[in-house]
Amino acid sequence: MTARTPLIAGNWKMNGSTESSQQLISSLCSGVSNDGDRNMLLCPPYPYLHIAAEALKNKAIMLGAQNIAMEPDSGAFTGEVSGLMLKNCGCQYVIVGHSERRALYGETDEVVSSKFIVAQAQGLQPILCVGETLEEREAGQTQNVVRRQIQKVIDSAGSTAFSSAVVAYEPVWAIGTGLTATPDQAQETHSFIRSLISEQDATIASLMQIIYGGSMKSENAKELLSMEDVDGGLVGGASLNAEEFLAIFQAA
Ligand code: PEP
Repeated sequence: MTARTPLIAGNWKMNGSTESSQQLISSLCSGVSNDGDRNMLLCPPYPYLHIAAEALKNKAIMLGAQNIAMEPDSGAFTGEVSGLMLKNCGCQYVIVGHSERRALYGETDEVVSSKFIVAQAQGLQPILCVGETLEEREAGQTQNVVRRQIQKVIDSAGSTAFSSAVVAYEPVWAIGTGLTATPDQAQETHSFIRSLISEQDATIASLMQIIYGGSMKSENAKELLSMEDVDGGLVGGASLNAEEFLAIFQAA
């Protein structure tokens, strides 16, 4: 993969069945060519990772998980899944700090940064999700929120950790709501995120992929993806429909 090759990642969340997952993967595989101009990543629920890994063997689609345990080693952590297990399942990426995990499962910046570190220690690329709520945007706090979320990871992992990580800017008010950030709103925050890393290391910042998430669909993907600092998309709802997800992929 060359620097900042667009990455289109599908976050299936808690959706699908064995059968529908197999069908979706098979439709995506027939529609994706390995031209190296863009990359596709699928993040199915845990139980379907093995099925997906099998179906994606020798295919130009990568595999990731939606969550990871913050504990580095195996042990008495009922219900948790370790980085090593994800690696064993064929994952290359893992989403950390998704707003649903922050809001519904109480994941703090500290927890998210521990997960980021554990992921990297197992050779997984974390996709660090950051973004503001509507209330925070309306209060003019977008940059402060994003800075706080990123700074915690810089403090714990160091800025060099961003040389093998992806940042996803996901305004919470745009996730699953049908509302999308305008291309200018996305660009403004993406460029701000790059500047935060650039203050530490300009080279890492210039190579780091920053992808956008929040109701991305075929009809708005092209405009969003054409912005200078938007290097791909993290797609929820629209990633469950092969035709729609492939159209977003083609727009990249
Ligand atoms: C997401 O879950 O990361 C997401 C962006 O969801 P949606 O595309 O459905 O808004």
